[in-house]
Amino acid sequence: MNGIVGLSTVELSGAIATGEVSASGALEAYLEAIDKLEPQVHAYNEVLVDHARTTATEIDAARAAGRPLGPLAGIPIAVKDNMCTAYGKTTCSSKILANFKAPYTATAVEKLHAAGAVVIGKANLDEFAMGSSTENSATKATRNPWDTARVPGGSSGGSAACVSARLAAAALGSDTGGSIRQPAAFCGVVGLKPTYGRVSRYGLVAYGSSLDQIGPLTVDVSDAALLTAVIAGHDTRDSTSADRGVEDYLAEVDTPIENLRIGLPDEFFTDALDPGIGEAIARAAGLYKDAGSEIVNVSLPHSRIDADAEGNLSSYAVACYYIVAMSEASSNLARYDGVHYGHRGEKDVEGIVELFSRSRAEGFGPEVVRRIMLGTYTLSSGYYDAYYNKALKVRRLIKNDFDRAFEKCDVLLCPTSPTTAFEIGEKTDDPLTMYLADIYTISVNLAGLPGVSIPVGLDAGGLPVGMQLIGPPFSESAILRAARMYEKISGVTRLVPEIART
Ligand code: GLN
Repeated sequence: MNGIVGLSTVELSGAIATGEVSASGALEAYLEAIDKLEPQVHAYNEVLVDHARTTATEIDAARAAGRPLGPLAGIPIAVKDNMCTAYGKTTCSSKILANFKAPYTATAVEKLHAAGAVVIGKANLDEFAMGSSTENSATKATRNPWDTARVPGGSSGGSAACVSARLAAAALGSDTGGSIRQPAAFCGVVGLKPTYGRVSRYGLVAYGSSLDQIGPLTVDVSDAALLTAVIAGHDTRDSTSADRGVEDYLAEVDTPIENLRIGLPDEFFTDALDPGIGEAIARAAGLYKDAGSEIVNVSLPHSRIDADAEGNLSSYAVACYYIVAMSEASSNLARYDGVHYGHRGEKDVEGIVELFSRSRAEGFGPEVVRRIMLGTYTLSSGYYDAYYNKALKVRRLIKNDFDRAFEKCDVLLCPTSPTTAFEIGEKTDDPLTMYLADIYTISVNLAGLPGVSIPVGLDAGGLPVGMQLIGPPFSESAILRAARMYEKISGVTRLVPEIART
């Protein structure tokens, strides 16, 4: 690993600010790492070499001219390929958008630019962010840098793998049901899903609009604090974005929370959990306790996770999430018809209806098709009340449980995922098992809360284990501070996989 890619974002921005490292020098160090490791990791859909070199040169010129530099000046950052950029392509890892060039740049990415960041490439994902392993990508399966026979998680698997293998200093991902936190856990990095409305969704290709949020994936908690502060804030172009100020998360992150009350949800620690992960979380709770935090038991009855005698998992939250997410997806994806957008299947086509259906059949992959069909079913007359409306009621019950839990504690501590990274191909034949990979993360999206996943350590097989800290709405500062406390008391931070060490 060359010296520059071993730095965190906060450290690299310090080195660029003092002139010790130039933006172009930093970029070339990352491009060299990409040349070396990308053929094994497959994290990027597109490395934006020319765009990145031009931006880095501009940053260096600004510095030479004495102009003030933003907090991310010269930092190479990867962006999940479902965020629009007015340069390069925005494909959502789908055949239907294989050649799509967005006419504008997403607000969160604009904010990166305004802070001086260098967007180095577009990261792979499950097609339209639907999946938990990045195997649903129409381009390729990204590999887990800790073991290239395993998945990086998903859907922001490319973003997590880039950061883990040090092929970008940091990345943006999106999280509808766990897509930032679960890949962060699988790849041993930090991933934060902000409160719904904290970060503008303008320019994020919609999957489940009432659930989607953009957030950072980084090598440590301080970097996550810096990136969250840069991308958060009100945006008149997203009517669901929250009109409230953004705290300086980085300035606050090193201040421990006194008398921190940590809630352990009873329903999350059942037979459904891999014992190794359960023990790792219990150890983490023990460390917090030794450091003066109070551990309390709380209950989230409607997020309960059960396992039957055969080990099959079930939860109301998963059922509720997949109805809400698929319903929203079916209406959001109606726009890809070969006329407004995307691939046009016009060979031997007679009439407009056949043009629509041919374009969609050729352009969408099997998981996306399944979701559009299921979502259309749950929204159709006669089934709407039985499924969609019922799911909205369950969603409210899930949210009420969290509100009650936060009367007794400041943050919740739980696993991010029921297992560590699984093997490529292990779950592709069984969509239901794949859906259960998000069993610990989806209720957070349903309730609109912020959640962060940080590495708790490695399991017996040397794979990263993630833990999740969840807080009330707009408590990003508190969950980041609590996460930073864990880094300090455990010493677990900035894990580097073998592949990136040499
Ligand atoms: N795996 C979940 C799904 O497929 C979550 C995906 C996401 O958060 N984008 O819907």
